[in-house]
Amino acid sequence: MEFDDASPTPSSPPPGLTPGLTLVATPIGNLADFSPRAQKALAEARAVLCEDTRVTSKLLARHSISTTLLALHDHNEESEAPRLVARLLAGENLALVSDAGTPLVSDPGFRLVRAAIAAGVHVTAIPGPNAAVMALTLSGLPPHPFLFHGFLPPKAAARAAEISRIAGMEAAGLATTLIFYEAPHRVAEALAALAEGLGADRPACVARELTKRFEEVRRGSLAELAAHYAAHEARGEVVLCVGPAPPPAEPTGDALDAALKSAMARMTLRDAAASVAEATGLPRKRVYARALELAGA
Ligand code: SAM
Repeated sequence: MEFDDASPTPSSPPPGLTPGLTLVATPIGNLADFSPRAQKALAEARAVLCEDTRVTSKLLARHSISTTLLALHDHNEESEAPRLVARLLAGENLALVSDAGTPLVSDPGFRLVRAAIAAGVHVTAIPGPNAAVMALTLSGLPPHPFLFHGFLPPKAAARAAEISRIAGMEAAGLATTLIFYEAPHRVAEALAALAEGLGADRPACVARELTKRFEEVRRGSLAELAAHYAAHEARGEVVLCVGPAPPPAEPTGDALDAALKSAMARMTLRDAAASVAEATGLPRKRVYARALELAGA
């Protein structure tokens, strides 16, 4: 790993001055996580696009940054994108932030980034805090592969349907750590719904108030965590992580033999072994060897 000296050279201007769009991460709670590069890019941008000008103006004022703010949120992003892309193509450098953390991650910005890329605009990012990745690294659950889901639907029926869609993918072999954002007043019901749909014993974690004074990471099974938060209201901001689905239970010798005999009655020995291996997740070689034994070969 080589680190680039931050000092600019004639061939590499500092990021804040480069024409194009710069996605700038801001703190998720702890203001000391506002990196010098992020501050510089925002100070040097022609304008800062932000979700809520009230939130971002406070952050910038603390650092004596007086760059013009332009609101860009879910309701105007689609209509504003062409105008902003035209400004970028004219050589302006614009920065994009969200209220907190990494823009685009469960936050606005994707539609602008897609339009800018399509128009050939240079797009770069100044990385920094992100609640999902911080929760994942503290969870004690396998860090990869992981699936970042964002928010589950707030209403019970739609949430249960979404969880059952995930359970369906897991039944088809998906085995990843899952990450969800959740509003504090829905943590208990979301955990209960996850326990119901994915399995009460699944290891999980609730990461709360990350980088802040009352940061807390609580680990346990989905059922344990659901019971805890049913009794203790979760306060502040919350990320839920759920460990990967366990591998399918290996069929017992008898069950394997029964599956093989039934398949061999309908297809060739080779196809029967392949089909049973696929269905059970058992190694092909092992299933084929047992098929040969059953066939008396
Ligand atoms: N873009 C942000 C990021 O990079 O993490 C996420 C924005 S999303 C609108 C807000 C959600 O992120 C919160 O409801 C919570 O689920 C999660 N979140 C943000 N900050 C957090 C923190 N300090 N601790 C725990 N979760 C946080």
